[in-house]
Amino acid sequence: MDDLIKQTAADLAAAHHVVALTGAGISIDSGIPPFRGKGGLWERFDPMEIAHIDAFMQDPARVWDILVREMKEIVDRARPNDGHLGLAKLEQLGKLKTVITQNIDGLHQAAGNSDVIEFHGTFAWQRCMACGKKYETRRVDISQLPPRCECGGILRPDAVFFGEMIPTDALLRSRNAAENCDLMLVVGTSAVVQPVALMPVIAKDNGARVVEINPEKTPLTGEISDYLIMGGAGEVMNRLIEELEKTLR
Ligand code: NAD
Ligand code: ZN
Repeated sequence: MDDLIKQTAADLAAAHHVVALTGAGISIDSGIPPFRGKGGLWERFDPMEIAHIDAFMQDPARVWDILVREMKEIVDRARPNDGHLGLAKLEQLGKLKTVITQNIDGLHQAAGNSDVIEFHGTFAWQRCMACGKKYETRRVDISQLPPRCECGGILRPDAVFFGEMIPTDALLRSRNAAENCDLMLVVGTSAVVQPVALMPVIAKDNGARVVEINPEKTPLTGEISDYLIMGGAGEVMNRLIEELEKTLR
């Protein structure tokens, strides 16, 4: 791993436009379970069923009760970990421009990154299905489910359910970032959810170097990414920053 850390630090030092693409893996150390792999709420049900817009439309109270309420409790108390803080540090060092994230937990902004594209929307806000008014999730009263807007409409997460369109703005801005970067760090994503998994492919196609940070291989490994640093996001980011600071000194 040492050699790959050194290599990535050198790549970062030489790069002019770095973009990170992150997934659920980067937030695991903050106590938010990923879809795939061990632990957490997703072992009890199938995300494709319960986190599907059809399930929500059919029975919002049920989806609030068995999914959204628990997500709210988890996300309300989650704090950025070394993985998020490392990416914020990369921005401070003038080395990272944009974070494209699949996560809906708001932790990149909390860590201090200023340009975060939320590909799947955000769970930090709820929006009224009738009038569109937004409410900060932390402040939503869930003593009665589903929670309602002052207009009487039902509140839903301002995030993308399975079966819904990606917000056009996020899609266009992400594609733009992927096309224009010369280095993409792909951190903590299984790279199987589309169309976001195409971003590294677009980056590669436009001549960028693609580096994965993940304890496991993904469909990108050996195909799209130049190499994989096998390890957890926090641990790898800490070592990477340490090495980069030596290089920049
Ligand atoms: P995923 O659950 O499919 O995959 C998680 C990936 O993280 C795996 O490749 C795993 O090997 C890796 N991983 C495990 N521990 C890690 C660590 N310590 N550091 C780095 N990587 C680690 O996640 P995905 O690819 O993001 O797809 C899931 C979808 O579900 C996303 O589109 C997202 O919208 C949603 N989701 C979001 C959150 C969140 O906001 N935190 C949590 C769960 C799911
Ligand atoms: Zn309303």
